[in-house]
Amino acid sequence: MTIQGNNSSLQCKVCGSDTVTLDDSQHKITYSVCNHCEFIYKDIQYHISPEQEHTEYKKHNNSFESLGYVKMFERFIDEHIKPLNINGVGLEYGSGPGPVLKELLSREGITMFDYDPFFNPNTDYKTRKYELITSTEVAEHFTNPIEEFEHIASLLKKDGYLAIMTSFHYNNPDTFLKWWYRRDFTHIAFYTPKTFEIIAEKCNLKIVKHNDKNVIIFQK
Ligand SMILES: [Zn+2]
Repeated sequence: MTIQGNNSSLQCKVCGSDTVTLDDSQHKITYSVCNHCEFIYKDIQYHISPEQEHTEYKKHNNSFESLGYVKMFERFIDEHIKPLNINGVGLEYGSGPGPVLKELLSREGITMFDYDPFFNPNTDYKTRKYELITSTEVAEHFTNPIEEFEHIASLLKKDGYLAIMTSFHYNNPDTFLKWWYRRDFTHIAFYTPKTFEIIAEKCNLKIVKHNDKNVIIFQK
C-alpha cells in the first residue's frame, strides 16, 4: 500500500526516492517514509547521541543469564543457520555487551569473531573475509543503511551468507504508529522484504529466504 503524507524534502536513505512525512503524535517525532522501497527512517533530529545510545545498550540484559535471550538465539540457529551448513569463519557484527550468539555459533563448530562499535571496537575483523556474518537486532540502529550493508557485504567471501535479524514493519501507517518496535528510541531504521530487495541489488547480494517477520538471509 502507499502511505499518505506530506511530501518531505528528504530522500530515502536506501533508494534515494522522495519520501513522505509520517507524524508520530504520541512520541512527537516524525519519520520519512519511502513508498518505493518501503523503508521508514526516523528523522535525524530525533536520533539520540552515540553516548546516550551506549548508556541505553548497557541497560540491556543480553547475557547467558537471560534465558529468553539465549532461547531466541538457539531458535535462530536451529531454523536459519544450521540449514546453511556453514564450514569456516564467521563474524557476529554488532555483538552487544555479551557476545552470546558468537559463543553459541562457536559451539556449532564455526570459528567466530565479533565486532561491536561500543563493546568491542577492535577493527581487526576487517582483515578477514567470512563464510557467515550474523547481525541481530542491529540494522534498526543503522544511520546509513546502504553504507553499513555495503561494508558488511564487502567482508563476505564469495557464496558467503549474511543473516540479519530485525523486526519487519507491515507497511501500514496505523499499524506502524501502534508498533512496539518503534517505541525503543534507539531504533531509527525500519525495513520490509521489499526494502531488503533494493539493498540486495545495491550490495550485489541475493536473497536466499526470509520469514516475513524478522529474519532474512542473503548470499554473496
Ligand atoms: Zn526507498
